[in-house]
Amino acid sequence: MKIRTRFAPSPTGLLHIGNARAALFNYLFARHHGGEFVLRIEDTDRERSTQQAVDVIFDGLKWMGLDWDEEPVFQATRQDRHAEVVAQLMEKGMAYRCYCTPEELTAMREKARAEKRPPRYDGTWRDRDPSEAPEGVPYAIRLKAPKEGETIIKDLVQGEVRVANAEMDDLILLRSDGTPTYLLAVVVDDHDMGITHVMRGDDHLTNTFRQAMIYRAMGWDLPEFAHLPLIHGPDGAKLSKRHGAQSVVDFREEGILPEALCNYLLRLGWGHGDAEVLDREEQIKLFDMDGIGRSPSRMDYVKLSHLN
Ligand code: GLU
Repeated sequence: MKIRTRFAPSPTGLLHIGNARAALFNYLFARHHGGEFVLRIEDTDRERSTQQAVDVIFDGLKWMGLDWDEEPVFQATRQDRHAEVVAQLMEKGMAYRCYCTPEELTAMREKARAEKRPPRYDGTWRDRDPSEAPEGVPYAIRLKAPKEGETIIKDLVQGEVRVANAEMDDLILLRSDGTPTYLLAVVVDDHDMGITHVMRGDDHLTNTFRQAMIYRAMGWDLPEFAHLPLIHGPDGAKLSKRHGAQSVVDFREEGILPEALCNYLLRLGWGHGDAEVLDREEQIKLFDMDGIGRSPSRMDYVKLSHLN
């Protein structure tokens, strides 16, 4: 099997250092195995996605020396395909139309909150006869998620992670304006692009359970997953603006060389022996999933000149 990894950023801002590390790991894993590393620009949020952010991503990856294979895929161009998959799920009886209005959904959430339950969709339209559908009310399409049993992911970094299906609700696949949700688009695209390994930040782990349900409903094989612990600042909190350095450009403007940044990002969350500095060739030769740590990495390099 030829290994294919991908980097799938949303072009809505900076090339965050956590994302840059995910790109580096995906790149090294693919190159180590003589596989392919491809890009997908997740630009379905038309309001927040900008060409400038796309350029920042391409530019940052090139600066880091992470060359990709094939033409990048722009997710927004694939909406017909996403809708086609939803139509197939409808045909299989694995999805249904939900006519709940925003007001009804808000009331559902408030009721759950008052009863101290997690705010989940209560399945109103799951079993209801579609002929009862109100006239002229736009509908979303939801996945008929399994209610019993467990969803288990064998994550290459986190080990086996599981969730009781009763804890999950029927996620939206297509919004009432006909646009695909992130959960659907990622699954369809990773499947169609032949991605064998999905490596990304562990803030996506809960999404993975939901994505697994979509794969199973379509009868598709799941890729391997590897969720990387997030990068934290020196105070142990998730890396953010107040830590000073959070994007590739911050480091670049500081005069840090790309080789130094890549080496640093690699050592942040991946361990191999005592070597402090590895060049690209050595990185490709040595990189494997076994060396990825399970706990959040702490980034101590935040003393950028604009802080003091
Ligand atoms: N577009 C998502 C993000 O930037 C990543 C999706 C993924 O890697 O599956 O957070």
